[in-house]
Amino acid sequence: MRKGTLYIFTGPSGTGKGTLLSRVMAQDDRLFLSVSATTRAPRQGEQAGVHYFFLSREEFDRRVEAGAFLEYAHYVGNSYGTLEAPVQQKLEEGYDVVLEIEVQGAMAVHSKRPDAVMIFVAPPSFDELASRLRGRGTESEETVEARLATAREELRHQEEFDYLVVNDDLKAAVRDLSAIFIAERCRISRKNGEVHTIK
Ligand code: ADP
Ligand code: 5GP
Repeated sequence: MRKGTLYIFTGPSGTGKGTLLSRVMAQDDRLFLSVSATTRAPRQGEQAGVHYFFLSREEFDRRVEAGAFLEYAHYVGNSYGTLEAPVQQKLEEGYDVVLEIEVQGAMAVHSKRPDAVMIFVAPPSFDELASRLRGRGTESEETVEARLATAREELRHQEEFDYLVVNDDLKAAVRDLSAIFIAERCRISRKNGEVHTIK
């Protein structure tokens, strides 16, 4: 059976990663979004096991010790990590697995799994990023400031990625992101020998 492709999906907090992915996933049943573990507290409406596995610091550190993470990173006061076993399982089942992770984690996965496709999503401007993050209303002003400072650093890494999606007009960005998944599936190298034989 065809094995799935691993995708890394990265961009500053508030760029619209979650918004874009929920739209694209709704129309693409071959995609599986990896559920990360985090030490951060759940936001209103976030469900354990759906949005994140919410772990205590002790439990998170125990998983690090046990080697359960494909990657993990510290981000604005909390730890976030990708559990390796479910990602591997879904790839074996043929799903294309998306890791929605920050830049340090993206680079760590890239060095372990150079076959992973790296997508960076950028905001149209820094002011628009700040206004989206504040407009979402999920973070304190202090955390917003810290996330924006981190964003400046993250934006410097765009050129290390394979694809760039600028999330200005949402519809156009959804189209661009879907096109990346479709084009990657059309690569001869991913066809496992199932080339069309009509001559
Ligand atoms: P991220 O997952 O990258 O942190 P979100 O998906 O939560 O970002 O989006 C941050 C905020 O910006 C949300 O309030 C969302 O509705 C809004 N947003 C997302 N994409 C756009 C867009 N293209 N234009 C305007 N607002 C957007
Ligand atoms: P949030 O707190 O807004 O859900 O996420 C904060 C940041 O952590 C975002 O940039 C998000 O992509 C990133 N993130 C979420 N899960 C993971 C993960 O498993 N590993 C890493 N490295 N970053 C993650």
